[in-house]
Amino acid sequence: MVTSVWNEVYVEEKIRNHPRVESILNKVQKAPVYIESFDEIWGRSKKAYLQKRDTLNLFLAQKQGQLLKLAPDAYGSAGEPHYYFIHAYNCIYECQYCYLQGYFNTPDIVLFINHEEIIQEMEKALLSHPGRVWFHAGEFSDSLALTHLTGELELYHEFCQKYPEAIIELRTKSVNIRELEKLPPLPNFIVSFSLSPDEMARRVDLKTPSTQGRLKAMDKLNQLGFKIAAHFDPIIYEDQFKSRYQELLVQMNNLKINEKLAYLSLGVVRFTKDVYRDAERNYPDSVIHSGPMVKSFDGKVRYHRPMRMWIMSTIKELAIQAKVKPESIYLCMEDDA
Ligand code: SF4
Repeated sequence: MVTSVWNEVYVEEKIRNHPRVESILNKVQKAPVYIESFDEIWGRSKKAYLQKRDTLNLFLAQKQGQLLKLAPDAYGSAGEPHYYFIHAYNCIYECQYCYLQGYFNTPDIVLFINHEEIIQEMEKALLSHPGRVWFHAGEFSDSLALTHLTGELELYHEFCQKYPEAIIELRTKSVNIRELEKLPPLPNFIVSFSLSPDEMARRVDLKTPSTQGRLKAMDKLNQLGFKIAAHFDPIIYEDQFKSRYQELLVQMNNLKINEKLAYLSLGVVRFTKDVYRDAERNYPDSVIHSGPMVKSFDGKVRYHRPMRMWIMSTIKELAIQAKVKPESIYLCMEDDA
């Protein structure tokens, strides 16, 4: 008998007969509790973030209100509109720097099942901009980790097939690429992996696949002809950061990943002050607090600007030496002081 990993599974009454709900319920092997609306329970009272280790609940819901969100100016490569679409809240992984630990009142996971409506909003967004428009999944969750349950990738893939001017980015730390492998590659359907050197990932990316696992998944998708990209974000300072990123870039180059990267983004670890407080409480001994963090004028907690720029230019130089195309490298969230 399969034991469900979910403590409770809640389903909104109005979607109980939706085929996607039936399919998910068949896979999770847990009798659901039917409720009127997910937010009558989800986040109603504070549930400590680290309780996700012991009792994680799953909610299946229909997303109301805003389905697409315009991303901040410095999000993604510059000069084109970027949106993220909201298909889930919260994540099964536990990265120590994750901003979700201070964002919602609960770590319980919500999977929204009305992807057709999300896609209609994406079509409207396309009409309102002349050129290319980017759509990012994974702002409030990992975009691949649960796709074996949710089964929506095909819809977003069809959208990319229909609209070549749309670009979808699936951002992930997952190696759960089974559903992707069933789809033919498309130039505007990008799978991007967040990567850190092995040792750092072991210390701060809790419960995620290892860096080597992620590289293997990237290699496989690359060989299948998928468009791939990478994020070195967040970069966390430690004495050996240069040699460790150099090693990572060499590993990527040996797999012939670097020359194929649609982009490589670089971003140094940063927090809002509230999330930083949560991260200090949840992970008091973490390496993320060991660098010289300062509170900036805008309330962000991060290294001072000269240090951030030095770290990113050092890694950018290494990336270029390792055959990443210079024009494909961009610095994330760094147009501020
Ligand atoms: S994979 Fe992303 S969303 Fe999930 S815990 Fe890590 S940083 Fe947060």
